[in-house]
Amino acid sequence: MSNVRPPESLLRKISKLFLPLWGIRAGLYLTLQHIFKRKFTVQYPEQRIEIDTNFRGKVTLLNRGTIEDSICNCCRKCEAICPVDCIRVVPLAGEDKKKRPLIYDVDMNKCLYCNLCEEVCPEHCVVLDPVYDYSSYSHDGLYFTIKGVSRPATAAELEEIRLFHEAEEGEKVRQRELRKKEAEAKKMAGAATGGAENKKENAEGE
Ligand code: SF4
Ligand code: SF4
Repeated sequence: MSNVRPPESLLRKISKLFLPLWGIRAGLYLTLQHIFKRKFTVQYPEQRIEIDTNFRGKVTLLNRGTIEDSICNCCRKCEAICPVDCIRVVPLAGEDKKKRPLIYDVDMNKCLYCNLCEEVCPEHCVVLDPVYDYSSYSHDGLYFTIKGVSRPATAAELEEIRLFHEAEEGEKVRQRELRKKEAEAKKMAGAATGGAENKKENAEGE
C-alpha cells in the first residue's frame, strides 16, 4: 500500500483559504451587532451594579450610631434559630440594667442566607445587607466579630424599626381588647344560660 497522499483538489484549496476568513467575518459581524447595544457588564470594582434590596448578603447588626448604643436587646433568638449555629451572642448588662451584646460573632463561612435571624429578631436589628463582595482567602477572614458585623442604622431603617414597634404595640392592644370582649360575651352568655336554667327549675318546682 502506498503512503503517497493524492493531490488536493482546487475546491478544497479554496475552501481551506476562505474558511478561516469566513469565521473572522462572522465573529466581526457579531461584534458589530452588539457594539451599539446596551451593556450588561461593568468595570468592577470601580463600577458596581445596583443590587436588589431583597438580596440576602452579609449578616449585619444595626446600631444607633455606635456599637455601644445598641438596638439589640440580647434576647439571643437569632442565635437559637440559626440552623447552622453561626451566630454567637454574649450579653452584657450595663449600669442601666439594659442588656447589650458584649460579643456578637457571625461565622459567614457557614451562613446559609436563610434570613431566619432577620425574621425572628424582635428589635428588627439584624438584616442581611445586599453586600456580596466580602470574600477571603482564609476561613478566619469570614468570621466576623461585633465590629465586623455592626453598622449604624440609616434614618429610614430607624423609622422602619419605630413603625414596626408601633404596629406591634397596636396589634397587642387590639388582641387585648378582643380577648376582653370575648370574656365579656362569655360572661353574658353564661349569665343568660344560668337565668334560663333557674326559670326552668322554678317552673318545675311549681
Ligand atoms: S434576635 Fe435581635 S435582639 Fe435578639 S439577640 Fe439577636 S440581634 Fe439581638
Ligand atoms: S441567615 Fe440563616 S444561616 Fe445565616 S446567620 Fe442568619 S439564621 Fe444563620
